Amino acid sequence: MVYAPRDDGGRDLLDIVARNEAITVTWLKSYLSFGEDRPLWALVADEVMAKKALADDLSVDEAIRRNMYLQSWRAKVVGEGSLGNDLKRMVKIADKLGVRQEALAVSRDAQRQAIIWYHKQSTANRQLFNANRVNDCLKRKHKMMLVGDAEILARKAQTNRHTSRRDCKCIACSDTRTASGCAHPNQCFAKARTMLMSLLPKCC
Ligand SMILES: [Zn+2]
Ligand SMILES: [Zn+2]
Repeated sequence: MVYAPRDDGGRDLLDIVARNEAITVTWLKSYLSFGEDRPLWALVADEVMAKKALADDLSVDEAIRRNMYLQSWRAKVVGEGSLGNDLKRMVKIADKLGVRQEALAVSRDAQRQAIIWYHKQSTANRQLFNANRVNDCLKRKHKMMLVGDAEILARKAQTNRHTSRRDCKCIACSDTRTASGCAHPNQCFAKARTMLMSLLPKCC
C-alpha cells in the first residue's frame, strides 16, 4: 500500500477506506475458516444470515440454512429485512473477491462436517433437496444433516442381502426401521447416495 503524505486529506481518506476493507477481509477469513478454531461470532453470524435468506430461497428450510458459502442460498444484502451493516460489508467483500467454496481450504474432516442439504458443490438441480416425503424422513427421522451422516446412510445400502424392496429384511433396514421409525429405508439410503454422488469429487 502506498501511503500518502499526511497533508493530503483525500489520500488519507482512501487509506482509511483501504484499511477498513482490509479489516473486513480479515473478518471474512475467520468467518470462512471452518476448523475447530472458528470464532464464536462466526457461528452467530451464520444464524443471523440464515434468518435473512433471499425471498427466492425461503423454500430452503430455515433449520438447514447454515452457511451461504457452503450452501446454495443467499442472505439478503439489499432492502428491507437485509443484513446489518457489518455482515453486509463482509458479504460485499466476499462477492468482490469472488469467494467460492472450491477456493476455501476445507479439510476432509471439515467436508464431512458440511451440511449436505443444498450443498454448494452439488451438481444436482436444487430440487433434489426440496421438501418431499423422503427428504422429510431423512431430516426428521434419520436426522441426516451433514455429508458424514449421508455417507453412513448411503453405506447401509451395501449391507449383505439388502434389496431395494420396501420390506427388505436385511439387518440395516431392520435396524433403521426400529431406530428411526422410517417406513422406507431403501429409499432413504438411495436418496442419501444420490445427494453424495451429486457432489463434486473434491467434496467427499
Ligand atoms: Zn435392506
Ligand atoms: Zn427414511
